[in-house]
Order: sequence, then structure tokens, then C-alpha cells
Amino acid sequence: MANYKSKSTQHKTALFDYIAAKIIEDGPISLASYLSLALSDPSYGYYQKKDPFGETGDFTTAPEISGLFGEMCGLYFAHIIELSELKDPSILELGPGRGSLMADMRHAWRQVKPSLLTADLHLVENSYKLRQLQKAKLAGANLHFHDDLKSLPPYPIFAVANEFFDALPIAQAIWRENDSKTSGVWRHRLIGLSDGKLGFVDGPPLNTSQLQDWSLALPKEFGHRDGAIAEHCPLASVYAEKIAYHLVTYGGACLIIDYGYKGQSCDTLQAIANHQAVDIFYQPGNADVSHWVDFSALSQTIKEAGARLIGPVTQSEFLQEIGIIQRAETLAKLADNKTRRSLFAAVDRLISNQQMGSAFKVALLLPPGTGTPPGFFSNGGTTNL
Ligand code: SAH
Repeated sequence: MANYKSKSTQHKTALFDYIAAKIIEDGPISLASYLSLALSDPSYGYYQKKDPFGETGDFTTAPEISGLFGEMCGLYFAHIIELSELKDPSILELGPGRGSLMADMRHAWRQVKPSLLTADLHLVENSYKLRQLQKAKLAGANLHFHDDLKSLPPYPIFAVANEFFDALPIAQAIWRENDSKTSGVWRHRLIGLSDGKLGFVDGPPLNTSQLQDWSLALPKEFGHRDGAIAEHCPLASVYAEKIAYHLVTYGGACLIIDYGYKGQSCDTLQAIANHQAVDIFYQPGNADVSHWVDFSALSQTIKEAGARLIGPVTQSEFLQEIGIIQRAETLAKLADNKTRRSLFAAVDRLISNQQMGSAFKVALLLPPGTGTPPGFFSNGGTTNL
């Protein structure tokens, strides 16, 4: 979750010992390697060991705040699937966490589009522990688990990814002004060991092909200060490109919801443990480490693959445009006072700009076309899919 103030501490864990030994043996490791180990190492990775969500966990995501979030997404999917007129679509979720979002979407489909309940449901999830929670939560669905997106079925797919892209490992580069006779150089930021502590060290300069890959993230004009930081998420491009090609070939859509920005990248890495911001090296494997998603980079990748990314708009704009307030008012009429209060408190948390409303963005990946889909009119546009 965004915008916590960081406590700067480090504690040793089994994963810390493993990473430290690796650095002593081979030298500094890339930031992406550190993040892959900290989040997804099969024995010690953060998502492999525990259920991190909710009040008793480390952070709370939108589906865990209120079932209304998933219900609105479910109603939205039912609507865009009807607009697309595609027959027998499959459903895909990237990074389903506890499975709550999909369970609430299916709850909505039970009312408005029961045929979706028997569609194949593909889940991209690399945590064994979370897969068990998802199986229990989604009992009765036609589940297919995937470690990645290498094998998707040859059918139209409607996909959702809530707080998935922010969890993928990123790389960072740092601008160094005076270590070259020319105007300066972008260097990889690596993870090294100093006085028994993990920390950033400067690595080799980005080569020509890396400068090309990073071009969107790096400021166009020289003149940035020494120490300026840029970010790049190669795995996000891999996923976005793969989904884009699939949608171009078979049709469908992918709803992406995450905290993120459009425009110049900077240092957005953050770590959370027990609802508190912590240093990103705090207890490796025991804290969630994430970054803000670069929607400009996603959009560029998707465009190059022949598809389009609509938005992003803010979560507040999207949820209001698809009718969350009206839906909450309808439900409130049937509820007691306590339930009504908690319902409106949840809506406020989802859409208020002081909470999740503006930090979180929503974008829709679509095959080529011209119209703007429902939910994105505030981004300009007038027609449907
Ligand atoms: N969508 C859920 C959970 C978000 S947390 C919610 O909103 O509550 C991120 C999710 O992505 C977790 O389920 C995590 O295990 C999964 N995940 C993170 N990195 C992954 C990767 N590289 N491949 C597959 N799944 C990953």
C-alpha cells in the first residue's frame, strides 16, 4: 500500500544469510534478483510463507476491504463480455491472493451471468500457500493454475490483475554525474554488503541495448541531478506483451488495477510489514516489497504488440463511473445501521482521494479498435468496445 513513512531497520533472516553468502561468493546481485528472492523464493519468499492480507496480515488490498469491490468488477466483466459478443470466453486472474476478488466476481455472475460460472478459470499464481487458499475459496470453479503466462488456451480471455504488477521484480538505474568525462552515465543499482548490512551499490553502466529498453523511464533531457533514480520492470513488459498478443489473436480484455503513475519514473520501491513502512532490506522474506506501476511503459509495450491500453483513470473515477455509489445505496436500504456505516466507510476507503482513490489507477487492455469502453469516459471518449 502506498505512502507509509519508513522505519529504517534491518534484521537477519535465513534469506538474509543466503543472500549475504551469495554476495560474498559472487559479488553484488541485481535488484531484480534480490526482489525475486525476497518475494518468491520457494522456501523463504514472502508470498510463499504466509497469508499477508487483511488486518491480521501486513497490508489490505481493495478486495479485502469490501466484497463490493469484487462485485463491481464482476458486474463490469459481465457487461464488457456482453458488449464484446465473444462466445465461450475463459477467465484469467493474475496474482489472486486469497481468491477474494474472484469469489466476489463469481457471486455477481451468479445473479447476472451464470454461464461465466462454468467457464475455465485460469489463475497465475506462484505461491503454493496462496494456491491452497484460492482452491478453498473458489471450490466448484474449473480452476487451472499457471506459474506464468507461457501457456494460455487458444480462446478469448477476460482477465483481471489487482495489485499484481506492483509485485513483479524491478530494476533501478542511478544517474552519476562526475564519474565519466562525458556528461554523465546511467548505472545499474545493485545490492551489496557493507559492515554486515545489505545496501545499494553502483553497478556497471547501462549498455546501448539496455538504454534502448529503458528509454521511456530515463529522462529525455540531460541535466538531472547526480543520484537521480529510474525504474524498469522487464517482467511487466513480458506479461503485458503476452496478454496483448493473445487479445489481438483471440479477443477479450484485461483489467489492470494498481498503484501507479503515468510519466517520468523515479524511486518508488516500498516495503511494508505489519501495516508499517519498513526499509526494503528489513527482514528479507518477511516484508512485502513493491513498486508503483509505470502505466506509460505498459501502454508503450501494449501498443507495440498491436493492442491498446485504455486509461489509466483513477480508481475513484472508475468505480464511480461504473456505479459503486448507487450500488452501495441500494444495498444500504436493506442493511441495519452498523452494516450501512461499514459499507459507506469501505466505499470511502476505495474512492476517497486521501485513501486509495487517486493513488490507485485502472486501465483496460483491449484488442485494436476505436471506441472507449464503459468506465473510462472520464478519460475522454464516447462509444463502447
Ligand atoms: N490480487 C490480490 C493479491 C495481490 S498480492 C488482491 O488484490 O488481494 C500479489 C499476488 O500476486 C499474490 O497472490 C502473489 O503470490 C502473486 N504473485 C506475485 N508475484 C508473482 C509472480 N511473479 N508470478 C505469479 N504470481 C505472483
